[in-house]
Amino acid sequence: MDGERRHKVIIIGSGPAGLTAALYAARANMAPVVFEGIQPGGQLTITTEVENYPGFPDAIMGPELMDRLRHQAQKFGATTHLTDVTEVDFSTQPFTIVSDDRRYYGDAVIIATGASAKLLNIPSEKTYMGYGVSACATCDGFFFKNLDVVVIGGGDTAMEEANFLTRFASSVTIIHRRDALRASKIMRDRVEKNPKISFVWDSVVDEIIGKEENKKKRITGVRLKNVKTGSVSERSCQGVFVAIGHQPNTGIFKGKIELDPKDYIVLHGNNTQTSIPGVFAAGDVADSRYRQAITAAGSGCMAAIDAEHFLESKESS
Ligand code: FAD
Ligand code: NAP
Repeated sequence: MDGERRHKVIIIGSGPAGLTAALYAARANMAPVVFEGIQPGGQLTITTEVENYPGFPDAIMGPELMDRLRHQAQKFGATTHLTDVTEVDFSTQPFTIVSDDRRYYGDAVIIATGASAKLLNIPSEKTYMGYGVSACATCDGFFFKNLDVVVIGGGDTAMEEANFLTRFASSVTIIHRRDALRASKIMRDRVEKNPKISFVWDSVVDEIIGKEENKKKRITGVRLKNVKTGSVSERSCQGVFVAIGHQPNTGIFKGKIELDPKDYIVLHGNNTQTSIPGVFAAGDVADSRYRQAITAAGSGCMAAIDAEHFLESKESS
């Protein structure tokens, strides 16, 4: 085994959970190694202002927050690699991690690979992401005060996002690809009673329309296609919330640790322990409920402390 590639703690993922775990593990003298993956800094790097991260009353740009957090972790001794983990073996200790065709060995591993909002995958969605397109109403709803927005999706998330957005927006239109909602009755009832919310049924958004003014991009509407009649129409709006579900990034862990029916990592007990002792998970990859930067960072801190206790108990046994 290559001694240079054996580490006390290996962290997979560099969003708020992974980098906070790195900061705590580094300050505990565990010299953690972080594999940053294809999205260094995680989901916040695709947004603009983050207004609800404690300590930044005037907001901070998502990418800047993550650069600062990485710098803070590195300052205390965390090493970061800009590569993806492609394979793991948790069957024997130390655990094996494969990245860039190299094997690394960890006495403890923290998984913080996050979850990705499912997106429509149309080019204009990418163009306006963070400039009117969002996948998180809790995060971005505030920016749409007195504006017209659309929410895409027919599940509980879409209903929750739509209701939440009525606190700010003048109108919220839910666009659903079928003529019946998937959402639970209680959520449907709440939405149907809300006078600010209306529906467009049997329709998909096939383009987000916008423009650039004074070097600032903004949305002006969406192009809708009725899937039953094929007819195409345009609807004016200033915000588009895509709420068609989330997918935890757990592909490489299938069959290696316990996942729930929706592929989120199952935690055991009141901590960040997975089904394998010594392998911990933090952030959105194990959280289908809160999905916020601060909760991800908080659980990253917990995972580092849990890893530290695990290593201490191994040393003393
Ligand atoms: P992520 O941020 O998803 O990071 C996952 C990390 O894992 C990435 O670095 C990725 O590269 C890495 N990774 C994945 N697979 C691998 C692999 N195989 N090998 C190595 N690395 C891997 N929350 C707020 O609190 N406030 C906001 O204002 C806010 N705005 C948002 C705006 C947008 C557009 C989005 C999409 C989300 C927003 N959120 C916001 C939610 C917040 O970003 C997430 O809750 C948070 O980033 C989750 O952190 P995480 O560390 O668990 O995972
Ligand atoms: P979901 O239940 O999978 O619903 C996703 C919705 O998006 C569906 O209506 C689906 O349409 C639509 N959709 C999927 N792909 C699409 C595409 N490419 N284009 C257009 N529409 C698309 O996901 P979710 O709403 O995120 O909920 C996930 C889980 O969390 C559920 O179990 C839910 O109950 C739970 N949840 C609960 C609460 C709550 O109770 N407060 C809140 C949020 C989430 P179809 O219906 O046609 O498939």
